[in-house]
Amino acid sequence: MKEARGHYTPFWRTLWIVLVYLLAAGAWITWSDNLAERWFTDPHTLSRVQTWKGALFVAVTAGFLFAALYRQLRRDRLVERVLKERERQLATLMDNLPGMAYRCLNDRHWTMKFVSSGCYELTGYRPDELQDNQLLSYASLIDPEDNALIQSNIAESIVQQQAFSLEYRLTRKDGRQIWVWERGLAVEDGSETILEGIVLDNSEHKRLEQELAEQAIRDPLTGLINRRELSRLLNEEIRRAERYGRHLAVAWIDLDHFKRVNDHHGHAAGDTVLQWLSQLLTDSIRSVDVIGRVGGEEFVALFPEMDLEEAMEAAERLRKLVSHQGVTLADGLEVRLTISLGVALYPDHGGTAEELCIAADRAMYRAKESGRNRVVLAGPESSAAPAGMREV
Ligand code: GH3
Ligand code: MG
Ligand code: MG
Repeated sequence: MKEARGHYTPFWRTLWIVLVYLLAAGAWITWSDNLAERWFTDPHTLSRVQTWKGALFVAVTAGFLFAALYRQLRRDRLVERVLKERERQLATLMDNLPGMAYRCLNDRHWTMKFVSSGCYELTGYRPDELQDNQLLSYASLIDPEDNALIQSNIAESIVQQQAFSLEYRLTRKDGRQIWVWERGLAVEDGSETILEGIVLDNSEHKRLEQELAEQAIRDPLTGLINRRELSRLLNEEIRRAERYGRHLAVAWIDLDHFKRVNDHHGHAAGDTVLQWLSQLLTDSIRSVDVIGRVGGEEFVALFPEMDLEEAMEAAERLRKLVSHQGVTLADGLEVRLTISLGVALYPDHGGTAEELCIAADRAMYRAKESGRNRVVLAGPESSAAPAGMREV
């Protein structure tokens, strides 16, 4: 009977009013008839009085009816105007959203019951093509790799009764893949769970994020991975080698007399040499191998699954390659350079990334001591770090 906050329902309010009306009308008829009969004894006059009384009753009732209907209809029109204005505002807002607003079923197709016009710009599909899966379902646009995560996130947000935020990849109608960001909320509509929210193109943000992540692991001059990333990869490879009982080789590479390039041709020429060497090394390794720049003119090559013989061969090949090639500097002069390499093997010369690098670095120093432009294999004693030696 009562709605929330003590208000009566429209049905009960109307019933109250009609009851009061019936009581008032009954009281009026009885009371006025008694009075009329008492005051007017002449039957003819009494009949006229009763006609006028009836007319008065109808007029008063019509007055009340008019007032009530006028009030109600005026209110209806006002509500209609407010609703129309709200609808217009909402439509403007939806149409100008930088993305699309949606309302969909919580099923495996994410069946769209409504999508705003921004859907076209975001996905390349018209809203009617997605609504009710007319042409295809929204779920079919989502990268299958992201689907499981989306489903579990939404399921959790429904349980927790909280909004969800998601990031996933969508394939547009033109085949281009974009990153989107979605925020939504599950609402109950009768017995159904409906999801409502917005989806925005997040590709630019994602690109910058990936660029930043890439910058964090790369050396800006040569584009090679930096010391930290090399260390991470080396540790990863060691774990793999350990698990499968395989070998792994590391070559510490240092340019011979590089300082002279800087001294004679300038720092910019030195940079050119570093870039040239990085490219040369990168082009001469297998796709599974990795080269990183770990210091000024020092590089580390990581050779997964190579045994001692193969590693020495690979290092020797790099040494020969560099010594047989010259690099032409900006001033047109060609310089010839050599490299010294120290090779260390997992597990023979060290069981950790640090130990392996120390062993390879130390072997490289021995290559320098014994005349440069050569490859030296780490000795069994190499894992002990000498004072002042750099570590990855
Ligand atoms: P060695 O054969 O004993 O290795 O001699 P080296 O001259 O190569 O070795 P040293 O360590 O004495 O010199 C390395 C030089 O590398 C010193 C430094 O100026 C230069 N260097 C380090 N980083 C950069 C860089 O990013 N650009 C340039 N142009 N030079 C660099
Ligand atoms: Mg050096
Ligand atoms: Mg050097």
